[in-house]
Parts: sequence; C-alpha cells; structure tokens
Amino acid sequence: MNAVGPRLVIATHNAGKLREIRALVAPFGIECVGAAELDLPEPEETGTSFVANAELKARAAADQTGLPALSDDSGLSVDALHGEPGIHSARWAEDETGKRDFGFAMERVEKALSDAGPEAGRDAHFTCALTLAWPDGRTESFEGKVFGHLVWPPRGANGFGYDPVFVPHGHEQTFGEMEPEAKHAMSHRAKAFEQLVHFLDQSRSS
Ligand code: IMP
Repeated sequence: MNAVGPRLVIATHNAGKLREIRALVAPFGIECVGAAELDLPEPEETGTSFVANAELKARAAADQTGLPALSDDSGLSVDALHGEPGIHSARWAEDETGKRDFGFAMERVEKALSDAGPEAGRDAHFTCALTLAWPDGRTESFEGKVFGHLVWPPRGANGFGYDPVFVPHGHEQTFGEMEPEAKHAMSHRAKAFEQLVHFLDQSRSS
C-alpha cells in the first residue's frame, strides 16, 4: 500500500467500521486517523449505489484534509425485501429523533420478512464498497459481497450493526458470534479490501 503514504484518513464516523478497517490496514504499517478524530463533517449520502456513496465520502475527506482517504459504504440487502435495507441500512436504524438503534433495525427487518410470508425465504447479503481518494482528484473503488441467510432472534455481541442476525453460507455462527478474525477472513469488507491491496500492488509494479 505504498501509494497511500504514511497517513490515511478513514472517512467514517462509524466505530464498528473504523475498528474493522484499522485491523485490515494494520499489517501495512500505515497510520489511520478516523474522520471523527479530525472533526470532519459527515457528508450527506445522496448517491444511489454503495460505490457512489463511498466515493462522495472519500472525496470529501481527501479534499478537506489534503491526505489520502479511505471510505466505506456498506449495508445488508435482503432478497425477499427487493434488496432493502441496502444503501439505507443505517437509515433503517433511525428513530424519529435520528438516533440509531440496530436492535430496532433488526426487528424492522424481521417484521418486514414475516410480512413477506414464509415462501419469501431468508437469503441476504452484505455489500461493502471501499473508495480510496487522493487529494489530486484520483479515486479508485472496490466492492465485496458475502452471501448468507438471516436468523431470529439475534445472536452474539461481537461485530456491529446487523451482525447478530447474519449467518454466512457454509457457517453456523452469526457474524455477531464469530471472533473478529473469523469475520475478517470472509467478510464483504475484507473482500473489497483484498481487491484494493491487489490494485495497489499492481499499480506499483506497472
Ligand atoms: P453506511 O455505509 O454509513 O450507510 O452504513 C451502513 C450500515 O450498514 C451500517 O451502519 C451497519 O449497520 C450496516 N453494516 C455495514 N457493514 C456491516 C457489517 O459488517 N456488519 C453489520 N452491519 C453492517
């Protein structure tokens, strides 16, 4: 990841994402600084795709700091709900005052699923778009997905967001029950990050 330099802004105010991205970047010896530590404003997510939202967050942070910035836009898409909550995953957790509660968000998803009926199935996937933006205007985006199904009730206190209801294909534990290393070995975020590292390796050798 030499093209990034010694200091990278992680353009997120979400503590769970920041923790996971720090763990993914750690082996490369790059200092990560979170958007909240730098008092950066949270840009409005006006994009209509994960990549569009990741791009606008990374671009804003790179422009504001003059440093390379890495952003993450991600979410849970449920087949029976036509891909919702999808890019609105954070919004599904908001109450009338705008406060986020993911217990409430998981209940909303479960209610929508039971309204859809048993034939609708419980298949779901997480998507993560990562964008690296440089202060000179360049951006590169990468997308990773992990497929699985939803369980009820929620299980496990690890991870964040919708992790306690998501079981990846081929496993029995939810992301909320798995050790962080196990989630990092297969998650949507890890898959997008793998592509980012591959891209930076290729661009260094070409
Ligand atoms: P946004 O990318 O800031 O719009 O927020 C995406 C939301 O999707 C997060 O607040 C989480 O609730 C959810 N999400 C994204 N990635 C994960 C994950 O790895 N586990 C659980 N929930 C996630």
